[in-house]
Amino acid sequence: MIYHLPDYYEKFNCIAGKCPDSCCRGWRTIAVDEKSYEKYNDSSHEFASHIRQQIKTIDNRHFFKLEEGRCPFLNEENLCDIIIEMGENMLCTTCATYPRFVYQGSDGVYACLTMSCPVVADMILTREEPFEILVFDDEKNEIYDTMELPALQIMFDKSIPFKIRLATIAILSSDNADYAEYEAAMETITEHQNFIGLDDIRIEFALEYLIIFERMLKKSERNTKIVKVMLKYLKMDSDGITDPVESLLTLYRIYEKYVQSEAYEENEKEFTNYIAYRLYRSHHLINDKDDFNEEMFMTVVSMVAIKLIQAMIWNEEGSISSEDRHMVFQCHSKALEHSEKMYGKMKDKFRDSGYIKIINILVSILA
Ligand code: SF4
Repeated sequence: MIYHLPDYYEKFNCIAGKCPDSCCRGWRTIAVDEKSYEKYNDSSHEFASHIRQQIKTIDNRHFFKLEEGRCPFLNEENLCDIIIEMGENMLCTTCATYPRFVYQGSDGVYACLTMSCPVVADMILTREEPFEILVFDDEKNEIYDTMELPALQIMFDKSIPFKIRLATIAILSSDNADYAEYEAAMETITEHQNFIGLDDIRIEFALEYLIIFERMLKKSERNTKIVKVMLKYLKMDSDGITDPVESLLTLYRIYEKYVQSEAYEENEKEFTNYIAYRLYRSHHLINDKDDFNEEMFMTVVSMVAIKLIQAMIWNEEGSISSEDRHMVFQCHSKALEHSEKMYGKMKDKFRDSGYIKIINILVSILA
């Protein structure tokens, strides 16, 4: 078996009590894998019956339901009762491995860290250098190669403007294209950028995205600022949502101007790292050009949505700190990256509306 790891994977360290969020809070449920489910059922330990009582099962999927966003085993001192009572070995796989996860690709196992953990979000967003994908042998103890994904090579090529890099990746599927093909596509895009005046389209996509995001966001202390600005700027009320596209478009344009003149480098770095993170973690989902278009569409719309939330906070507070920018990326990941079902529904919605087209991706990037 071949294993792939981003080079930052082994550098992660949990900061536990110093964490500005917690992986034991802020979810709706925590998945319990079959093996752990059996472990809890087989245990004669007194505390195991308490664990069994907390497990719900729907469609053969087992999970702990969080109460008011808190894991039922998180005690008043914010410590885990399962560990205290029965030891770390009794954690389910989700809790034992978070924020690490793996997926099976056609050419081996890929290991990832999720940006829903604030430490991981900081690690990824502040990187100055491209990350490498390290390839390990069966024993997992010797790096014998690094892997190059052409899309990542393009994303990290800072000699090319950010938007052109992104548009070029959108045009070509990473599976089939090599770097030379990307270069040819890049020249074509640079010559034919003519999407000025269409920037309301990307705001419309982002607004639809944010409405679903708002529903999925489990409110917590960590995301108070996001909840507050979204309520105000998306104008959510008991009657639903009044059309805020115009005001969001104005805000987005003003914020973009601010970013271009005052904070370009930091923003470019963070979004470059974010897109690279998404490209790496969605690598296994991409079998053909349609999959690639879907993932690029979702990635680009998520980028606009994240930037819009940052713009709202910036507008409210007169500035936005790097901590708050990172918090937006992290809370976005926490709300959306861990529910394949909801994320799938979101994709279906955009697909069924006929929005997932290369032209819409390009307009959203280049307008
Ligand atoms: S979210 Fe990350 S840093 Fe915070 S407690 Fe969990 S693993 Fe540790």
